[in-house]
Amino acid sequence: MITTAESIDSIISPRAAKLWLPKQVLITPAALAEPWGRKIYERVSALGLPVQELKQNRLVNLRGEDERETYRKAKNTLAIVTAPASALKLQPIPPSADYQFHLAEGCPAHCQYCYLAGSLAGPPVVRVFANLPIILANLPKYKKPGQVTSFEASCYTDPLGIEHLTGSLAETIRFFGEQENMHLRWVTKYSQVDDLLQVPHHNHTRPRFSLNTDFISRRLEGGTASLNERLAAVRKMALPRALGGGGYKVGLVIAPIMPVPDWEEQYTNLLDKLQLALDFPGDITFELISHRFTPGSKAILQEWYPNTSIDFDESNRALKFNKFGGKKFVYPPVTMNNLRSFFYQELKLRFPEAPILYWT
Ligand code: SF4
Repeated sequence: MITTAESIDSIISPRAAKLWLPKQVLITPAALAEPWGRKIYERVSALGLPVQELKQNRLVNLRGEDERETYRKAKNTLAIVTAPASALKLQPIPPSADYQFHLAEGCPAHCQYCYLAGSLAGPPVVRVFANLPIILANLPKYKKPGQVTSFEASCYTDPLGIEHLTGSLAETIRFFGEQENMHLRWVTKYSQVDDLLQVPHHNHTRPRFSLNTDFISRRLEGGTASLNERLAAVRKMALPRALGGGGYKVGLVIAPIMPVPDWEEQYTNLLDKLQLALDFPGDITFELISHRFTPGSKAILQEWYPNTSIDFDESNRALKFNKFGGKKFVYPPVTMNNLRSFFYQELKLRFPEAPILYWT
């Protein structure tokens, strides 16, 4: 149970989260030719960050002497680029949404289980897209006739983690607010939501907050907002506008769920805090994702985080294949069932009206 020391005040008045400020900002000529690219340039300059104008559109010299140095250098680099033409050909992304699209690729955080490891080529630089108006104008082509079509914007980045540098998320929420039958979804581990509260979203955007136990967040999610900061952010976003909030429908993504020692106690504590943060009626959904890894993501993550405490031992896991024949290692069936039953039971008790969209 929550102790008195962990009252709602400690959740709604946390320390301000630290914003990511890259050490190096690069802009390509193509990005500089885009009006949105110049806006990003101005925002970044206003934050006191010097911007280097490149002579060519390719990003070069991003590697260090070894993988660790390449990682360090890349995670401190923001590149303002144009999304390639292939970004305008949208791919489906079940079970999260009908289609995915991208405002950026790469993320400033340092999660030791990062879902992006192995999905993006090259050093993990944060590339933000300067041709945002073209990316947005392309989306209505994918509308399914007569039904709501959902679009996921956080498959390759954490869009809130870089919002202070780009403004692209607020612009995208505003765009979706003006569209019929098009809904936007994104997920974050950050908390700087104040600039999003007044954006006219017209209930077409569902921000989702990725949560985990305080123990896991502190140890494995470097550079992100703390658990209390995220809880304060989800509360602000979900509170009705009349009460000073954003009036958004919100989602909670509990991930990656791990059977650490005392997991029941730790996740009970998380759900107690969440119940306290969302102590008013609202439209909320849950997504539940257990930890998994592939041979490729394990190799990259162990190179990036050689001292990680994540258990990557395949002999403790069950092997699954995706539809393309790729291998992934998940928890064995007994562990999966225990975790799944716990969450379904505890969430129904605390949030009986909130659908659980999926467990994986
Ligand atoms: S927030 Fe997501 S994308 Fe960013 S480092 Fe963490 S897991 Fe990777």
